[in-house]
Amino acid sequence: MKNIIIFGAPGSGKGTYSDEIVKRYNMGHISTGDVLRAEIKGGTELGKIAQGYIDNGQLIPDELMIDILAKTYDSMPAGKGVIFDGFPRTIAQAEALKKMLAERKHDMGLMIELIVDEETLLARLLNRAKEQGRADDNEVTIKKRFEVYHNQTAPLSAWFEKEGIRNTFTWKGSKDVMIGEIFDFLDKVNG
Ligand code: ATP
Ligand code: MG
Repeated sequence: MKNIIIFGAPGSGKGTYSDEIVKRYNMGHISTGDVLRAEIKGGTELGKIAQGYIDNGQLIPDELMIDILAKTYDSMPAGKGVIFDGFPRTIAQAEALKKMLAERKHDMGLMIELIVDEETLLARLLNRAKEQGRADDNEVTIKKRFEVYHNQTAPLSAWFEKEGIRNTFTWKGSKDVMIGEIFDFLDKVNG
């Protein structure tokens, strides 16, 4: 399988669909949010730095994030495709990803954009707050994350469009339908 970049607003289901894709196509999975949360849990230096940003709904600075991403990528088993979940989130990160992969003679593969209305996103995140107790899933921080998404991350859609690898999937009220559409698409790509 080619590499896949899964893209969408907070709560759009990047992690959920990544898990399904990983199982079906036996790929590697890099969730930058999970990497950072593991660092926080482990009480590392990086975790301490990351926590301040995450708790405020802000992005971790690009240089730091790009470094973490490259190290994580190089630790993955070679030969399988990787899903990038939560990265890139800025144009600078996207340019860095493209360059990092090119240096390794790999390419970005496909981008899958999940399009979900904001009312649904908010409901999901508030529900996740109850179930998983993620510190950044409270109403104030969620609003901040949406704002950061609109200002810094959403413009990347056009960047991927220009790269010719953007593919959109719109939420129509059913997870099974969404997964079915994504699998149909990836099956075709896989031949
Ligand atoms: P969801 O996982 O439901 O899609 P999300 O996209 O907000 O929601 P994560 O991807 O887990 O959640 O990210 C959580 C936080 O981790 C972000 O709000 C940000 O502070 C930090 N973070 C994760 N990835 C990056 C990145 N590529 N660049 C900068 N900060 C990041
Ligand atoms: Mg996630």
